[in-house]
Amino acid sequence: MQPNIWFNVCALCILSALIGLYYVKFKAPFKKYYIFLAMSWMALVSTVASLCNNVLPGHVPVWVLQISNCTYFVAQGMLLPSLLLYVHSLTDHSLSDWKRLVPWMVPAAFSMLLILTSWYSDSLFWLDDGGVYHRGSMIWLLYLVTAFDYLGILVRLVRSWRVIAPGERESIGIFLAISLTAVFLQLVFPWLLVENFASALCVMMFQLTVQNPELILDGSSGMLNKQGFSNLLAPMFDQCRSFQVGFLMVDNYHELEKVYGYTRLESRIGVLVSFLKQHPGVVYARLDSDLFCFLPENQQSDQSWTNLLQDLDEDALMTHLRRRRIGMRVQMKMGVINCPKEAESFGALLGLFDMAARLPMANGQDAFRLSPVDVQNLRRRKLIEEQVRSAVKDNSLSMVYQPIYDIRAKRFCSAEALMRMYTEKTGSVSPAEFIRIAEDNGAILKLTRFAVETVCRFLRTAELEKLGLNWMNINLSAVDCAQENLSSRMLEIIHNYQVEPGMISAEITETAFTNMPDSVLANLTELSRAGVTIMLDDYGTGYSNLNRLCSMPLDVVKLDKSLVDHVCTSESARIVMENTVSMMKRLNKKVLVEGVETKEQSDYLISLGVDYFQGYYYARPVDAVHLEELFQSQLEPVAP
Ligand code: C2E
Ligand code: CA
Ligand code: CA
Repeated sequence: MQPNIWFNVCALCILSALIGLYYVKFKAPFKKYYIFLAMSWMALVSTVASLCNNVLPGHVPVWVLQISNCTYFVAQGMLLPSLLLYVHSLTDHSLSDWKRLVPWMVPAAFSMLLILTSWYSDSLFWLDDGGVYHRGSMIWLLYLVTAFDYLGILVRLVRSWRVIAPGERESIGIFLAISLTAVFLQLVFPWLLVENFASALCVMMFQLTVQNPELILDGSSGMLNKQGFSNLLAPMFDQCRSFQVGFLMVDNYHELEKVYGYTRLESRIGVLVSFLKQHPGVVYARLDSDLFCFLPENQQSDQSWTNLLQDLDEDALMTHLRRRRIGMRVQMKMGVINCPKEAESFGALLGLFDMAARLPMANGQDAFRLSPVDVQNLRRRKLIEEQVRSAVKDNSLSMVYQPIYDIRAKRFCSAEALMRMYTEKTGSVSPAEFIRIAEDNGAILKLTRFAVETVCRFLRTAELEKLGLNWMNINLSAVDCAQENLSSRMLEIIHNYQVEPGMISAEITETAFTNMPDSVLANLTELSRAGVTIMLDDYGTGYSNLNRLCSMPLDVVKLDKSLVDHVCTSESARIVMENTVSMMKRLNKKVLVEGVETKEQSDYLISLGVDYFQGYYYARPVDAVHLEELFQSQLEPVAP
């Protein structure tokens, strides 16, 4: 019976197309992908050899056919062991544990030996004078080895059943079923050359399912996506290997998207992608539309990595963009993270990127490179962010109180409650640092609740009113003020502790009412009606809208330390201060000046008619016990 070569022709077409596609589009730097590529090549080589075996007899010398028959058997014989390696790579990504497979590979190695010696021994096959193939007496051994290979794959599959993703399990199962059927068919009908066609079908099915690059590649740049990059780094983090990851962030991506639209922007971003990709030996990833990462394939000695880092200076990039007539203004942040020192897991790495994205860029700056110190700061910020979330629960917060001096009464009349945070991991953190972080991640609401409760408890238990404390200042952040129910929540706590609302004063900054004037105004009006004093904090640091200032229920304005700092040395600072104080007086507001550090400043401010003083010259922030003692001492008559 004439052999049916058409199955092989179809297999040849399918495999060539798939291998071509792999190189053009589906390449990925994973062991699994390399093994898959090797399998595709083996199937192709086996198909070509099978075609030669069946078409060439009579046209070429017999030794050529000997070679092509050997090639066919070798390629076929390596296919199943490769599949075994592939299944193994699904759970052991870096193939570090490959030694476990050795016993399963021994029969395959033995069969290779048989194939290569069959030329002389005729044990597996022999060719007649016309070059036509005949089975040898020991051909059954090959079928035995094949059966053993199937068993090996099945055992590996069953063992890692739970770890292998569901889609992958089914694909491998179907692969086995198709190829087993083909082996059986070819055993029974030797003229039906379906084995290679079955392999081609299996390769195609793998390409569409398990090897689907969409799962790990970014569609528009062809770089790895977040999942792909995470898969790549996972074994490196697991083995605690030291490596560096570079990143480049398009800081103004979302603004550019508004201007250019997604499609036009992406085509322009393609220029950036081509800039990065011109360095070989580096794996690229696009984790988000605005975030690119790169990792040298060889971390120890890679010249291309050094070149890339040198090239990645803002000027080179800008020149590259300009040369390609990309007129848009791209603002970039870039840097290198040392893993695992600076990021001990993929999650920590993403956390650092997240923090870097939130770093403000200076006005007019087009790019900046994060130094190792910046990265350390980001790490600290990340740590503080984690700690601040659970700060109330972990008891890491406390309050201190900075006394406020009433110049007319010539005594301390109140105090500002200031928060402190101390954790084992961070040490003590300045509120200037952790309050902003808490505002960013929303933890501030819990922090403010803690402050209000602590102050109310203190006022209640120490009976400070009797000691001459007229009120206590609590800082409210812009995020607090934007909450619809701020006033009701605060008043509820105040009532629960049976504190007079008049004993509480809320400090808010100008930024609080720049974005959300309606809800802020409603909150402040309700608090003010209930008897809470409202103070405007940090006056002089923002861009005041004086009209809006007048429409707010403000009782006291706190002038910022920056207005005070130079009053003794600068004429213009004095002009600003004098006019500010007189304007506030005419607007019927009481004036409190913060950050008074010297007697000269204090004397000068007294001459202007300032009402209240707060600063190191008068008193530093103290804990509850010392505040109580201070107020107690004011009551005691001075010894004659
Ligand atoms: P702030 O509200 O302007 O508080 C005044 C800050 O100036 C305090 O710093 C205080 O210790 C410091 N200070 C007072 N007098 C002087 C002085 O004479 N010289 C100098 N150099 N500094 C002086 P602190 O406690 O580090 O607080 C920093 C900022 O953190 C506060 O600025 C406030 O914005 C925020 N903050 C503190 N506690 C809280 C809180 O409970 N809630 C909220 N939302 N923010 C808080
Ligand atoms: Ca304040
Ligand atoms: Ca202030």
